[in-house]
Amino acid sequence: MYVSMKNMLDKANDENYAVMAINCFNLETARSVITAAEEEEAPIIINIFQDHLLGHCDSELIAPIVKTLAYRSKVDVALNFDHGQEVLDLKKAIDDGFSSVMCDASRFGIEGNIAQTREIVNYAHAKGVSVEGEIGGMGEAAGAHYTHDDMYTNPQEAQRFAQETGIDALAVSYGSSHGNYPEGMVPAFDFDRLQKIKELTHMPLVLHGGSGSGEENICASVKYGINKINVGCDFMNANTAATRKAVTENPDINYFDLVERAEAESRDLVKYYIELSGSAHKM
Ligand SMILES: [Zn+2]
Repeated sequence: MYVSMKNMLDKANDENYAVMAINCFNLETARSVITAAEEEEAPIIINIFQDHLLGHCDSELIAPIVKTLAYRSKVDVALNFDHGQEVLDLKKAIDDGFSSVMCDASRFGIEGNIAQTREIVNYAHAKGVSVEGEIGGMGEAAGAHYTHDDMYTNPQEAQRFAQETGIDALAVSYGSSHGNYPEGMVPAFDFDRLQKIKELTHMPLVLHGGSGSGEENICASVKYGINKINVGCDFMNANTAATRKAVTENPDINYFDLVERAEAESRDLVKYYIELSGSAHKM
């Protein structure tokens, strides 16, 4: 079924597991992720990153595709606009049928973040659409701009932000970064901070930059209150690896077979994360 993230993440919060949110950008990536969720009997979130939405497959195109896949599916599927920064783009995604949006406004500071996020919450909730907010800033693994101390989420600010905006889920920063980490690097997570944020907010919390975080960090994150885990790079890498393998095995492979193979072989990575997050058999 096609749903918002609201009930999906409230249930995950009550039962202490996390739902996977995987970055997709077209029919094949979305179908790969939803099929993996069906095989694991897990709820799933299709994340569409802002750059992919604005530069490749806009909300008017992708929403009907994911909605149709969701209505044909036995598992709950939410469609979330990942890192939407502009009010106009966020409202358009809602109008075009997204069931959830992430309002990325932490660059404005706490007051501006509250104001923009509250505006989106009012618009979204009137249409049954859920909203994820963000407090604190995640770094970028590319160029080694890792999350550092002053980007970490302040627990008291998180509490105020959650209360004053009425968001349904909160993205928090406690050590993860976006992108691929260098080979062998595992980021250090501040779980005391995560626990404090959970104690003060009691709400569904979101880990961004799940790729490359390592099994221990993922499992501890779920234990201490994370209910949605975003994975982008590891899924893209799985598609690249499947494509490279197919071309290496058969340099003359036709494009249709290549795309089908990537769709089929990238599912294992999604299933791996679903099992790690504890959301298998939670449909
Ligand atoms: Zn993110």
